[in-house]
Amino acid sequence: MLHIPTLMLALLLGFLLLTLELGVSQRGLRARPELRRWTLGCWALLGGFAALAARAALPVDLSVVLGNALICLGLALYAQALGIMLIDSPGHRALWQVQPLIWLALVLMLDWPLYRRTAVMSLVYMALLVPSVVLIVRHGWRAERSLRTVALTLALAAASHLVRAWHALSTPEDYGDLMQASLGQGLTFLVSFICLLGAGFGFVLAVFERVARQMEEMATHDGLTGCWNRSTTDALLEHELQRARRNGAPVAFVLLDLDHFKQVNDQHGHRAGDAVLRTFADVVRGRLRASDVFGRTGGEEFGLVLPGTDVAGARWLVEAIRRAVETMEVTVADGQPVKITVSAGVAVADPQVSLSGDRLYGQADQALYEAKHAGRNRVEVHGLGVGASATLPLG
Ligand code: GH3
Ligand code: MG
Ligand code: MG
Repeated sequence: MLHIPTLMLALLLGFLLLTLELGVSQRGLRARPELRRWTLGCWALLGGFAALAARAALPVDLSVVLGNALICLGLALYAQALGIMLIDSPGHRALWQVQPLIWLALVLMLDWPLYRRTAVMSLVYMALLVPSVVLIVRHGWRAERSLRTVALTLALAAASHLVRAWHALSTPEDYGDLMQASLGQGLTFLVSFICLLGAGFGFVLAVFERVARQMEEMATHDGLTGCWNRSTTDALLEHELQRARRNGAPVAFVLLDLDHFKQVNDQHGHRAGDAVLRTFADVVRGRLRASDVFGRTGGEEFGLVLPGTDVAGARWLVEAIRRAVETMEVTVADGQPVKITVSAGVAVADPQVSLSGDRLYGQADQALYEAKHAGRNRVEVHGLGVGASATLPLG
C-alpha cells in the first residue's frame, strides 16, 4: 500500500528542487519570459502542494481552498508559458477568468464529502491541463522535440485525474481523508505529481533546445537577410567542390554586388538601404533551387553556390536575377520608390580540375570587377573575356 504522507513529502521535495533549479538557471537566461512564467507556475504548484500537505498545521478549510486554488493557478501559468513559447502570446484568457470561480467553488464545496470534492477538482485539473496539451500538439509538435515529452506527461497527468475522478466516485470509502492509504488514491496521486515534475524537466530541455537552435542560426546566418553568413558560405562552397569532384559535376560560384548602393544609403538613409537588401535577398531566393547556397559575403555583396551547374546554366539564372532586380522597386519610409541594379561575376569549377574555394572565389571576384568596369548592371563570366558571356546561348 502506498503511504500518502511519504509520497507527499518526496514529491514536494522533488518539486522544490526543480523550482529552485529553474530559478537559478533563469538568471543566466534573462530574456526567456516563457521560462520565467513556467517557474512562476512551479512556485504556485509548490505552494499548492505544500498547503495541501500542511493539513495538520493549517485549518483544514484554508488548506483545501488555498492548496487547490494554487494548483489551478500553477496549471494556468504552465499553459501561459507554453503559449508564450509557441504562439508568442499568453493566450487562453479563459484560464484566468475561471480562477475566481474556482476559489468560489472551493469555498462552496467545503461541506461536501471529500470523495465528491476530489472528483470535481480532479476534473477541473484535467480541464486546465488539456489546453497545454492541445497547444503543444497544434503548435509545438514539430518545434522542439522535448515539447513532445511535455505534452505526453501533461496528457498522462490529465488522464490520471480523470481516473482519479472516476475512482473517487466509484469507491468513496477510499476518500475518507486525503492522507488515507489506498491503492487507487495513491497511484493516481503519484502519477499526476510525477507527470507534472516530468513536464517541468521536459520544458526546461525544450527551452534549452530552442536557445541552442537560435545560437546555431545566429552563428551561421546573416540576421538582416536570412542568408548564410560569409564563413558558412565558404565552408559550403568547399563542401560542394569536394562533392562535385567525386560526382564529376561542375559547380558554379557567383558573386552579386549591388550597384552604387552607397547612393541609396546617402539619399534615403541606412534603414532604406536595409529594406533594399532584404527585398533583393527575397527576389534572389525566389529563383533558387533548394540545393543552391545563397550567402551574404559582405555588406552589399552576395555569393551563390550552384551545384551541378555549368557556365550556360549559371549565366541563364544570373541573367534572370539581374533582370528581376532591374525591375524591382522598393518603397521605403520616405515614400519614394528605390530602384537598384546588380552586377555579377560567374566562375565555374570543372570537375576535372582541382580548384580550391578560394581560387574559385577569386575568379568570380575578377569577373565581378570586369562587370563593374564594363558599366555595371551586367553579368560577366571568368575566362570568357568581357562581353563574351552575352553571346552564350541562354540555358
Ligand atoms: P559599386 O557599384 O562600385 O559596388 O558601388 P557601391 O556604392 O555599391 O559600393 P561601395 O563599396 O562604395 O559601397 C557599399 C555600401 O554598402 C557602403 C555601405 O555603407 C553599404 N552597406 C554595407 N552593408 C550595409 C548594410 O547592412 N546596410 C546598409 N543600409 N548599407 C550597407
Ligand atoms: Mg556595390
Ligand atoms: Mg561591394
